[in-house]
Amino acid sequence: MKVGIIGGGIGGLGAAYELAKQGHKVAVYERAPFLGGLASTFDVGGGRLERFYHHLFLSDKTIIGLLEELGLGDRLIWEDSKVGFYYKGRIYPFSTPMDLLRFTPVGLLDRVRMGLVTVYLQRVKRWQKFEGMSASVYIRKWMGRRNYEVVWGPLLDGKFTRYKDEIGMPWLWSKFATRVASRDKTFKEKLGYIKGSWGVLMDALERRIGEMGGEVHVSTSVARVLTEGGRVKGLAVQWPDGRHSEEPFDVVIATIPSFALPRLVDLPADYLAKAQGVEYEGAIAVIWVLKHSLSPIYWLNISDPEIPFLLVLEQTNLVPSSEYGGKHIIYTANYVTREDRRWGMDAEAIVAEYVTHLKKINPAFDPSWVEEYHLHKEPAAQPIMKVNYLQQMPPTRTPVEGLWLASMSQVYPEDRGTNYSLRLAVEVARQAVAAAQTTVAR
Ligand SMILES: Cc1cc2nc3c(=O)[nH]c(=O)nc-3n(C[C@H](O)[C@H](O)[C@H](O)COP(=O)(O)OP(=O)(O)OC[C@H]3O[C@@H](n4cnc5c(N)ncnc54)[C@H](O)[C@@H]3O)c2cc1C
Repeated sequence: MKVGIIGGGIGGLGAAYELAKQGHKVAVYERAPFLGGLASTFDVGGGRLERFYHHLFLSDKTIIGLLEELGLGDRLIWEDSKVGFYYKGRIYPFSTPMDLLRFTPVGLLDRVRMGLVTVYLQRVKRWQKFEGMSASVYIRKWMGRRNYEVVWGPLLDGKFTRYKDEIGMPWLWSKFATRVASRDKTFKEKLGYIKGSWGVLMDALERRIGEMGGEVHVSTSVARVLTEGGRVKGLAVQWPDGRHSEEPFDVVIATIPSFALPRLVDLPADYLAKAQGVEYEGAIAVIWVLKHSLSPIYWLNISDPEIPFLLVLEQTNLVPSSEYGGKHIIYTANYVTREDRRWGMDAEAIVAEYVTHLKKINPAFDPSWVEEYHLHKEPAAQPIMKVNYLQQMPPTRTPVEGLWLASMSQVYPEDRGTNYSLRLAVEVARQAVAAAQTTVAR
């Protein structure tokens, strides 16, 4: 069977690898000049680094299994998670239940309440019972107003901006469930990284797909999904030299954001409404290459309306700085809508504004520490999982026979992650060829 795959991120490459192993003839088309999509990398200090910060949880079984299958299991490194919370000029450790109990910005009773609700949420298995509930209403009701004002409100606001009161509780539940599932035997939370970056995984997938006779094309856009009589017949492709061609396929799997699919193919009104109905937020990440470490924390949540970023993530507290020529790497990150003033700002303007706030994290910081900076923006970084999202989520099988969608907007209730994008795309790939084989047999 000939399968065309739109997108060369972890989903597209994972689907292609799975189908090539099954003996199908696959072709992946990626419009960017590099593979990896949201988990793509660039060079820093002689090492490779993700454009947007990436780590793994111990519960990310699908991607861990794939790394092992590709002979990359020994690349996985696991470290104790070092999470912090910045509030009113102080950094509070925020990794363990004891940290929570010592978190003085909220009173003792509120801390106990937050702890009890956290333990409860981590034990719930049937998340479906939260469908129809909003995360902000739930937190206010069960953890209380003070915990919402100090901790959860600012976090939801930073992550979802104007959508913060619309986010469904299953999304928040999944955050608690993932964290507890990432504890090792000693109950310590571990975070993982692929030594050499996610680029090592993308390279290995590209190589294996090629060895099995598949094709992977970069700088190559799909301009249209070709159909006839309601079924897929191929893809209209634009090649790096500007040439256009029509490539025949029995099955097409799109791993692009759901709102982008209707630009490539005509879809019936009900599916169209779902595909276009899921809104996405953008992300802005500034990568700072520093002479010195900013703090001992890996993931520092910022709860301060004066500071224009939501997160400070010090990569070199998870991965040794020797991976980047001894440099210390931090990300400052925001989630934004297109209307946000920061979306239109260039690297110089953003850095000039943000640099003044780094001193708040470490008073010893001096702008002379900054050796380089890089800005990355992504318009489709986070699908918005609103209340009753199950009713909104577009099905993976589209009404066009042979056309399937495997996008981040269909990863639910888990938060987006390379593990889940891979798991979804592999599942969709298996279903898509099985369905096409059944149709042919009929
Ligand atoms: C800020 C941020 C932090 C994250 N942190 C983590 C983390 O810590 N751990 C983790 O596991 N995951 C993390 N993720 C999520 C992870 O990156 C995604 O879940 C995953 O990479 C999505 O893979 P995908 O293949 O489904 O989609 P994408 O990576 O979006 O790939 C889709 C590809 O399709 C291409 N494309 C689109 N249209 C066309 C077209 N017409 N023709 C050809 N190509 C096209 C795009 O260029 C893109 O490369 C993070 C994401 C972001 C944004």
